[in-house]
Amino acid sequence: MDDIRLRAYAKINLFLEIIGKRRDGYHNLETVFQSVDLHDLLVIRPTHRRPEQNYIQCDHPTVPTDVNNLAWKAATLLQTHYPQINGIEIRIQKRIPVAAGLGGGSANAAAVLLGLNHLYDLRLSDDDLRRFGSQLGADVPFFFMGGTVLGEGIGNQLTPLNPLPEVEVVLANSGVHISTPWVYQQLKLPLTVKNRDVRIVSRFIEHGKLQNLGANMFNRLETPVFANYPELERLKQVLVRGCAYGALMSGSGATLFALAADKSQAQQLASSLQCESALCTRTTSAGLEVA
Ligand code: ATP
Repeated sequence: MDDIRLRAYAKINLFLEIIGKRRDGYHNLETVFQSVDLHDLLVIRPTHRRPEQNYIQCDHPTVPTDVNNLAWKAATLLQTHYPQINGIEIRIQKRIPVAAGLGGGSANAAAVLLGLNHLYDLRLSDDDLRRFGSQLGADVPFFFMGGTVLGEGIGNQLTPLNPLPEVEVVLANSGVHISTPWVYQQLKLPLTVKNRDVRIVSRFIEHGKLQNLGANMFNRLETPVFANYPELERLKQVLVRGCAYGALMSGSGATLFALAADKSQAQQLASSLQCESALCTRTTSAGLEVA
């Protein structure tokens, strides 16, 4: 095989509650991941060069093309375990907004692990891929599964849920870039506040009850983000008013998403928004696909 092309899909979080801080600095959480039909395209090609001579090209100006790229880290991780992997070239067409809570970097890392597994016939099982993935980032394992998935622990203990019926989704980006570590630093976990229960939204998802799901969507990280960026809270209110099922911030932000009744409602809402970008997409069941 000369090269492999993969689609790496974005995710949103339909629910995200922080259960507590761990001794290693990570947070335990309960989340519901949902894949959406917006993808980056990666082309991975083996070269005759040495593993230290990996090469990344990306059409997005702020994405690093060196060892700081998660795709590079994924390649290096497998190269240290499998010496038969030469230096590789990775070309990334970025469609997923960057540093936006949509998991773009993690999806790219998962795509590289899957791509190298195919290219070098490494015969890694889904479990092996998930184990390698969680060394790169807590949400990387999700992308091997895709669809609608309950995440516990640091987000890497995964249980698939009944797929949500296809729903139109508007992704609204205000242009604010938020660093995930910064959001967690801002987070104060008052002992008096009762945690939201992920089982409530999981049950509505299992029964395809979109109205109830929308009314119970929740993201604990909205509190610190909205305290620092009140314009995002205002944008969320606009989204809530303009869609059928509700709106929420995804992950650590700053993307906000709205679940719409149909394509025309989604398009009308997206075109009415005064923000940097508004994309219409829909839920999907794929996390990664060989193109
Ligand atoms: P997370 O919630 O996992 O921090 P995110 O979904 O909010 O991530 P990403 O698009 O993954 O955001 O980008 C987070 C940071 O990672 C950015 O600052 C970006 O420069 C860096 N990065 C490294 N590799 C990649 C990649 N392949 N694609 C996008 N960003 C990357």
